[in-house]
Amino acid sequence: MLQKQPWHKLSHLLGARGVKADWTGFPDKLLKPTNDLAETHPCFGRCGGYMDVVRHGDGSFVGVCSSGCDKRALRKTDLIVYRPDFTTIFSGLAQAFGINGVVHTEMDGLPACWQIGEYNPAASYRFPVVVMIEAQASRIERAIGQLAARFQKPFFVLLPSAPSVTQSVQDVVLRNSAKVFAYEDMIEFANDVIQVRSNASSILSELAAGWIKNIDGNHGGFRYPTPAGATWGDLVFEFTADEKLTVSCKNNRFQQICPEDLVMRNKRNKTPLPSWAFLKQLALTNNQMPVADIEKLKKVKQEVSGKLKKAFAMDDDPIEYVSGDNIYRAKFAIRANSSFATQEQKTKNCRRLTH
Ligand SMILES: [Zn+2]
Repeated sequence: MLQKQPWHKLSHLLGARGVKADWTGFPDKLLKPTNDLAETHPCFGRCGGYMDVVRHGDGSFVGVCSSGCDKRALRKTDLIVYRPDFTTIFSGLAQAFGINGVVHTEMDGLPACWQIGEYNPAASYRFPVVVMIEAQASRIERAIGQLAARFQKPFFVLLPSAPSVTQSVQDVVLRNSAKVFAYEDMIEFANDVIQVRSNASSILSELAAGWIKNIDGNHGGFRYPTPAGATWGDLVFEFTADEKLTVSCKNNRFQQICPEDLVMRNKRNKTPLPSWAFLKQLALTNNQMPVADIEKLKKVKQEVSGKLKKAFAMDDDPIEYVSGDNIYRAKFAIRANSSFATQEQKTKNCRRLTH
């Protein structure tokens, strides 16, 4: 049986700090005592307000309601200020996003915003995940605007409970190509631990797929399914024919690629562009391509790098110049399979005989 989830408490208390009486309903196990003693305490009377705490000379405490409805002795333990165990709560949320190695950092200049990591669904696509402990719509909206300006790409915002996700918050989020979730939809506290609700991951992957499609919109062409966390070193390129290349990642995700997939075919005369020949040359030289004139090759090399980065959705340059050996070398493995290599050799010999 699902208990009523207490996450809204996180945003209803100023600075997420309060005495035990403030945290009624919030799981004890998710609270940590601070060294501070409160100067006010919820009133037990009808006013629904707070009592001022008066400390007497003998060390005893008395709560006095400012509306005059109650006055009573309080124990020191009643006044201890508790903060939520953010590490545990944010770890639960991070788990819902499949984020590893989370660092919880309160964001500079953005009060009540904590970045708990980045959601990395594929290749080098990373979308920041921000938790807010804020319930007031106008403040949430302002913070989302600031986050959008800072990130310049889609991001996720997590708010304590569904009522914080008002229509106007939704509108602001949509305008800033972000997505907002309520904690209570993603995690629950059950059996004394934070548990991830099962449906979270499918929502996220669908969303991220949409964003990626949008980011790739201008590219439009072929996209290799590079898994998250992959590096160029995980990829193997193998030429099997003059215009055929098989790419795999860790012996998986085999894809046959031809020049047009990498935008390496001349549209008018249909022949492969120099960038394709460059790749083939890397393969035929076992990834040690001699550089006769770097000024001549530089431009083609840049073109190859740019097209590969796009097709594989990676950030870093896949081809490096090794000055000691005066060669170009790819960070991925690249070779020609034996039948293609032999065929290339024959063609070469044949040319030699006829000329
Ligand atoms: Zn009162």
